[in-house]
Amino acid sequence: RPIIEIKDLKKIYQMGSTEVKALNGVTFDVMENEYIAIMGPSGSGKSTLMNLIGCLDTPTSGSYILNNQDVSELEDAELAEVRNREIGFVFQTFNLLPRTDCLSNVELPLIYSGIKSAERHKRAAETLTRVGLGDRMDHKPNELSGGQRQRVAIARALVNNPSILLADEPTGNLDTKTGDEIMKLFEELYRAGNTILVVTHEDEIADHARRIIRLRDGIIEVDRKVENPLLEN
Ligand code: ADP
Ligand code: ADP
Repeated sequence: RPIIEIKDLKKIYQMGSTEVKALNGVTFDVMENEYIAIMGPSGSGKSTLMNLIGCLDTPTSGSYILNNQDVSELEDAELAEVRNREIGFVFQTFNLLPRTDCLSNVELPLIYSGIKSAERHKRAAETLTRVGLGDRMDHKPNELSGGQRQRVAIARALVNNPSILLADEPTGNLDTKTGDEIMKLFEELYRAGNTILVVTHEDEIADHARRIIRLRDGIIEVDRKVENPLLEN
């Protein structure tokens, strides 16, 4: 079942009298439970594509169907609602609230969804346990290591059961060993049925995925299967 159906997607920025074609006609589908690395040089359109997929922005033209809903022409308020329901974001810089404990950080998306407090605590606690932080719920992010912070961010991304996990350079601020642990967690999430898109410029990270989409100058240059993914045990 396709989760994402993207057809001839274009995003053109008007800079004074010149046009910047950040995305210049991109077409691909993502099926449920795929694990995809988005690659490409700086300026190739990765962030623009992720912002569109993540419902942070709408395209200049083309269509984007997310979980059977056409989201290419939604107004901001509707887009925000779809985003909170369908997308889990993981960032290079974690983007956690520093003075708020892990449990409350993970509860945030559930507050936006209108879930009541007791249910929020329960679901956030379950999700933190799932990422291996069951004993750190009362800690604040600055009392945790980088890898643990990223796990909190992953728990926050997962807590609403989104259709897609979107990760932008999730290991970019981590040392190699910690980065490997995070990739191992992504592998577990993939095997548990999650659909994952990871933006990375590192081949070693991309080789954990099952498919690589490489952008260049706003178009898809390569869309291929990963032959021997770096499976973690
Ligand atoms: P990447 O993430 O691969 O580095 P981007 O999607 O950030 O690429 O950028 C693609 C192109 O679009 C670049 O030429 C960039 O300068 C341009 N661009 C991105 N965002 C904007 C913006 N808000 N306004 C104008 N140009 C932009
Ligand atoms: P960068 O990759 O440059 O470090 P980020 O990963 O922090 O940037 O953010 C990527 C984009 O997502 C930015 O446009 C930012 O405004 C937006 N963003 C960051 N956090 C959230 C959030 N929690 N909800 C919605 N949009 C966000």
